[in-house]
Amino acid sequence: MSLKDLAAPFTVWKRAFEKPYTQIKPIEERPGAERYRGFHINDTDKCIGCGTCESVCQNEAIDLVPVTERETRHGDSGLRPKIDYGRCCWCALCVDICPTSSLGMSNEYIWIDEDPEVFRFVPGEDETSWQTSDKGYRRAEGYELLEGERVPMPMLSFEESRKSFVEMVQGYSREQAIAEADRCVACGICIATCPAHMDVPAYIDAIRRDDMEDGLRIVYQANPLPASCGRVCSHACEYVCAVKHKGEALSIRWLKRYIVDQIYLGDYRGVLESAENQNGKKVAVIGSGPGGLAAAYYLRLLGYEVRIFDANEKAGGMLRYGIPEYRLPYDQVDKDIEYIRSLGVEIHQNVRIGVDIPFREIYDDNDAVFFSTGLTDPYGLDIAGEDLPGVISGLKILDDVTDGRDPEVGKSVVVVGGGNVAMDAARTSRRYGAEVTILYRRREEDMPADEEEIHESRGEGCRLLTQAIPLRLEKGETTRLKLYWGKAEMIPDPEGGRPRPQLIEGSEEMIECDTVIPAIGQQADYAFLPEEISAKISFKRGMVQINEYRQTGDTKIFAGGDIANRKRDAISAIADGHSAAKGIDIFLTTPGKN
Ligand code: SF4
Ligand code: SF4
Repeated sequence: MSLKDLAAPFTVWKRAFEKPYTQIKPIEERPGAERYRGFHINDTDKCIGCGTCESVCQNEAIDLVPVTERETRHGDSGLRPKIDYGRCCWCALCVDICPTSSLGMSNEYIWIDEDPEVFRFVPGEDETSWQTSDKGYRRAEGYELLEGERVPMPMLSFEESRKSFVEMVQGYSREQAIAEADRCVACGICIATCPAHMDVPAYIDAIRRDDMEDGLRIVYQANPLPASCGRVCSHACEYVCAVKHKGEALSIRWLKRYIVDQIYLGDYRGVLESAENQNGKKVAVIGSGPGGLAAAYYLRLLGYEVRIFDANEKAGGMLRYGIPEYRLPYDQVDKDIEYIRSLGVEIHQNVRIGVDIPFREIYDDNDAVFFSTGLTDPYGLDIAGEDLPGVISGLKILDDVTDGRDPEVGKSVVVVGGGNVAMDAARTSRRYGAEVTILYRRREEDMPADEEEIHESRGEGCRLLTQAIPLRLEKGETTRLKLYWGKAEMIPDPEGGRPRPQLIEGSEEMIECDTVIPAIGQQADYAFLPEEISAKISFKRGMVQINEYRQTGDTKIFAGGDIANRKRDAISAIADGHSAAKGIDIFLTTPGKN
């Protein structure tokens, strides 16, 4: 031992009465480097509460929490990340992954407080002096952990597609589906937006795990028509996909289709829930469209004896009669329907209620009735000459094609309307060799048709004339018809609604054509309901009024789909069918409700 070591205890004592010495730097202003990873900042208006930061954090330093005055809405969970600085290791993975780029880090890193609670805060919501600091760590331009572009879908070229009714979208291969599924951040924002609340992240995860049977089970929990929906769903989920903030939304609809395409119908029974039980009660379903089929499926699983009555020759409603085969091949509609039928649901075709069988008979013979008869009566154009030969509704054209009849549209066609039926009628006419013009009263951005339908109509050679109002029809000399139309200017709505088209005087033009196809919407036909029953049901602007159980004013009758739901798409009808099945079950099994 050295002499110095021996003397050490005594030398320390000499400092006993000095002022305490501590490191001076923490209380002195010492800014971090420009890109230093200090405390987090968050632009909470840009943040959508997707929770991707929470799932990526290896230290469980992030919790998504509700924040004041921010409500859940489409595409935003209403939650915001709260960071626990007892756990954060400042790795910045959360900043690098954030799909909205709302999260960043300030270069502020010194913070002294005796209260440990203050070191858990919601950046951007709880007040901090560095929230507005423009220095600190941000993701570098072009540095992305997530793949922003979707895996391209193999499609027929427009040149090929317009020649036949062969399905245009070819479907993903296994590798393509897994690569696309890998882009999912599993935030679940899509679940809230999907009308049927399908568990999208769970079935996408099944693709990643290459477990198609599990994927099919997950899909069927909320949607018993996935082969059809995987092709024509209006995919509200994709519009709110968190990944869309960085590039292209996941192709959720096509991933669902991929799962269903991998399993043969004959194998479904071994994978899905069986419906062996019988509870002794009977339910009649009127209409075999998506609403009716979904209700029948879930009612059958609950043990009900279910009979569907439908006026058409084949089941499927608008899925079969309103959508052409290049978008939804009939064998795919059949796949969905045949599985439902295989569970014991009886489907009676060519039965018009009120004509072939009185509604009263069905009502008396069953414990409950669900009707989802859709909008079957096309609106007319309300212009002179619309009863001339050559004026055929969009629905009639699509119906003819489904039944194997040539719609005989001739060489030149004008379709009036801007919705999906208009686009389908136009593209169908193209496939019969016609030159097609689509006339729409408003602007292109006002068109209710899906963006891709508009794009594909154009691609297949249909001409789009917007702000064009049909005025009158006359018999043609060289063609069947002459359609006179005028240009419209858009008049802003002082109440903030959408602008209204107004005819510009003297702007009249004329198109010679063989066929004019009005496709401006449809309305329901309730003629099958007897007077004493319809008197008990309320209707508002042509729509059946229902409660949260999809029950009408007659407690034994439930309704859903286009006749009771303004969204008017297949997935909303499916969701209605599902909740009506629950409503009917509550009605028939809860004492006092019946
Ligand atoms: S990842 Fe980004 S957008 Fe999502 S909750 Fe976190 S901060 Fe918000
Ligand atoms: S910086 Fe790293 S440790 Fe801190 S919250 Fe973000 S991901 Fe978690």
